[in-house]
Amino acid sequence: MPRKAAVIGSGPNGLAAAIELARAGWEVTVYESRDTPGGGARTAELTLPGFRHDICSAIHPLAVSSPAFASYGLKEAGLEWLDPELPLAHPFDDGTAAVLARPLAATADALGPDGSAWRELMAPFVREWDQMAADLLGPPLRLPANPSLLVRLALPALQPALSLANRKFHSPQTRALFGGIAAHSMLPLDQRPSAVFGLVLAIAGHARGWPLPRGGSQAITEALIVRLHHAGGEIVTGREIRSLDELPESTAVLFDLTPRQIVRIAGASLPSGYLRRLQKYRYGMGVFKIDWALSEPVPWRAEACRRAGTVHVGGSLEEIAEAERAAWRGYLTPRPFLILAQQSLFDPSRAPAGRHTLWGYCHMRHHSEASMVSAMEHQIERFAPGFRSTILARHTMNAAQMEEYNPNYVGGDINGGVQDLRQLLARPAFSLDPYAMPAEGLYICSAATPPGGGVHGLGGHYAAQSVLRKYGRE
Ligand SMILES: Cc1cc2nc3c(=O)[nH]c(=O)nc-3n(C[C@H](O)[C@H](O)[C@H](O)COP(=O)(O)OP(=O)(O)OC[C@H]3O[C@@H](n4cnc5c(N)ncnc54)[C@H](O)[C@@H]3O)c2cc1C
Repeated sequence: MPRKAAVIGSGPNGLAAAIELARAGWEVTVYESRDTPGGGARTAELTLPGFRHDICSAIHPLAVSSPAFASYGLKEAGLEWLDPELPLAHPFDDGTAAVLARPLAATADALGPDGSAWRELMAPFVREWDQMAADLLGPPLRLPANPSLLVRLALPALQPALSLANRKFHSPQTRALFGGIAAHSMLPLDQRPSAVFGLVLAIAGHARGWPLPRGGSQAITEALIVRLHHAGGEIVTGREIRSLDELPESTAVLFDLTPRQIVRIAGASLPSGYLRRLQKYRYGMGVFKIDWALSEPVPWRAEACRRAGTVHVGGSLEEIAEAERAAWRGYLTPRPFLILAQQSLFDPSRAPAGRHTLWGYCHMRHHSEASMVSAMEHQIERFAPGFRSTILARHTMNAAQMEEYNPNYVGGDINGGVQDLRQLLARPAFSLDPYAMPAEGLYICSAATPPGGGVHGLGGHYAAQSVLRKYGRE
């Protein structure tokens, strides 16, 4: 008889875990509370007919760098990556923009006097990215394949982004470019290790680009499901799991959930010390998300922004640092830092002919119900005069609504928990095998495990490996 596994949650990590167990001959069922699978990788007509918006994830440097996804044959399962001409542009008030171009040399050339510092900082890691991605995106407490490279990265990476940017670069444009990338950490930029996010995402951008899937993030989910079905696994949608008693008898139960829900569902089965650690797990700031349907592309003053998949809106490094500090401390800021994606410029399937979509969010107070519409649109208008007149419709989600949509986004935290130094190492708790909970057959595989947030499936991949190490294949 094959061994049985139940996976709670059909996000990228849950699906990755399910694929790997099904491939090992296990009988696997994934339970998903919503009517469609996918977790943070879903696409829907949120505004007007024909406008297809990514509800959560949009841009995928981690997915294309994921050793797990690379081993599934997602291209053959229908997934196609589109590379915007420029991965990233960052506009300024004078009508110029700094850019992250895929070739390192092109970025360095465009950065003028800071070009050699940028090249020096990134080049050794860009060359070795595939090896480094496997080391960096793996569980923290294991021997890396290339320890000397990781030590070399650790020196700049373990600093606050604000000090690294100010020390390494001289021009306000380069400092802002780096600070905007580091702000993906959802940490204040004067806090460690915000710089590691700036470095890793910039290096990944040079090595593999910041691509988007044709048809939207949903296409990643669909390709994963093709692979799951092919391996014999199944998904049950519309089925919220509230207690372990609701599941059929299984050798292993894998939670694609964060500690808050695990405590609720399985708290009674966990030893008290571990339960306390899960109860102390910390969640960070939330997001306010807007999807716009537009009559035309965003009228950016800086031409480079019209060729970029991602645009960071927030001005100087100091302004971005101030916006992130305010969100972290729980203040509303009139000048938030925005992460925008312009999918329809590169994928015509996202909007009716001639029309466009715009996806964007800013960080805000944990669990806030405040609206950031006016502040966000004001920031875009600042660099793209006339933007407001292109808006046909918008769909919004505040931090509290994010959690209603997906209970993994506690208080609107889209990374499944704060990613500071302590919680990157102890995720969800300090352990040589953070995926195996100290209770027979219970595993955690979500973004609340290493390597953390993002669509890469690696939490699921390592959790499935942990299950197979203990119980073996079929
Ligand atoms: C606005 C936003 C923008 C983002 N942008 C990006 C991006 O551009 N690139 C990127 O790589 N990442 C991005 N992310 C982050 C990324 O989406 C997540 O880190 C990723 O989806 C986490 O995957 P997961 O499998 O751990 O969990 P999730 O994707 O959260 O999936 C968990 C699933 O479990 C289900 N579930 C919850 N409770 C239960 C229950 N009790 N019973 C059954 N099912 C349950 C949920 O409905 C959900 O489908 C973004 C997220 C958001 C919200």
